[in-house]
Amino acid sequence: MLPPGGLIQLTPKGLYCPAAGAWIDPWRPVPRALITHAHADHARPGSGEYWAVASSEGVLRQRLGQGIALQDVPYGQELQIGEATVSFHSAGHVLGSAQVRISAGDETWLISGDYKRDPDPSCEPFQSVPADVLITEATFGLPVYRWRPGQEVAAEIAAWWKAAPERTSILFCYAFGKAQRLLAELRQLGLADEVLLHGAVQTLMAPYRQQGIAMLPTRPVSELPRSEPLAGRLVLAPPSAHRSVWMKRFKSPQTGFVSGWMAVRGARRRHGYERGFVLSDHADWDGLLATVRQSQAQQVYVTHGQGDVLARYLREVEGISADPLAGGFAAELAGEGEFSDDGETAGAGIDGPVGLV
Ligand SMILES: [Zn+2]
Ligand SMILES: [Zn+2]
Repeated sequence: MLPPGGLIQLTPKGLYCPAAGAWIDPWRPVPRALITHAHADHARPGSGEYWAVASSEGVLRQRLGQGIALQDVPYGQELQIGEATVSFHSAGHVLGSAQVRISAGDETWLISGDYKRDPDPSCEPFQSVPADVLITEATFGLPVYRWRPGQEVAAEIAAWWKAAPERTSILFCYAFGKAQRLLAELRQLGLADEVLLHGAVQTLMAPYRQQGIAMLPTRPVSELPRSEPLAGRLVLAPPSAHRSVWMKRFKSPQTGFVSGWMAVRGARRRHGYERGFVLSDHADWDGLLATVRQSQAQQVYVTHGQGDVLARYLREVEGISADPLAGGFAAELAGEGEFSDDGETAGAGIDGPVGLV
């Protein structure tokens, strides 16, 4: 639990800063919400007022409603909200994602939201931010999670696709963030092919194109004439489309799934994908440790995933005061967060690394 009377408190609606009169990624409607990013488990509808980074506006309005009261904020600018000074810093997770830094009196807290440190051509790079107290996510907070560079994984995906010119290659991935990252990573490899999109991915393309993110050309599958051959084409679709009627259009396609969860033994086979590609938009174990060290925080609270493992490691090995933080964050493993980031059913997701513990 967070200490009572501190700058940030844990309430039934989520993390709350009394000095700013604001909640951070609240779980229920509140008067004032500071939003780290537009994934469904962080940005929920019904709040009176939203504060978020400007480049997240397109996706936020699409998901929460065009009419939401949104204050858009540039990265790094210090804002006076109530009695607190608040700033948003790039989290490197998806377009417009932020860590929220809040200070008042002589205390500074940093709430990481979801973040990654690996380069991602589809969003702003992670920024290291010092604070007295850090609340960090740990979705992949076990030493077994170590990611390879996105360009390496993209090259593997391109090889898989190009090796099957007679089949359609359908790649399942989260519609917001992962799909656009793949399109940007593949372009960075030097490819120029048009990629076909499921409707759920298509609806998220405009905000990325408007921000000028360089990606492969795309077209919705639904706009393709029936006569046009699908052999040799790459299609991106959300996990919920796997084994749905939508698949009937494709004759014996090869299928793959792209996610950090593909690092979990058995996950690919259990969900019936031919290939699994390990690519995550969360920090891996080394990324979590580097973030904690660079924050120079004297106290760390760990949310999401394996919070107790990381907290114990920080205490015993790094000598940093650290505790897991329970609460609504746990929902991420139960079928939210990375599983349903596409806003579709969670049923097509993965069970998470529960089997590891
Ligand atoms: Zn997220
Ligand atoms: Zn999340």
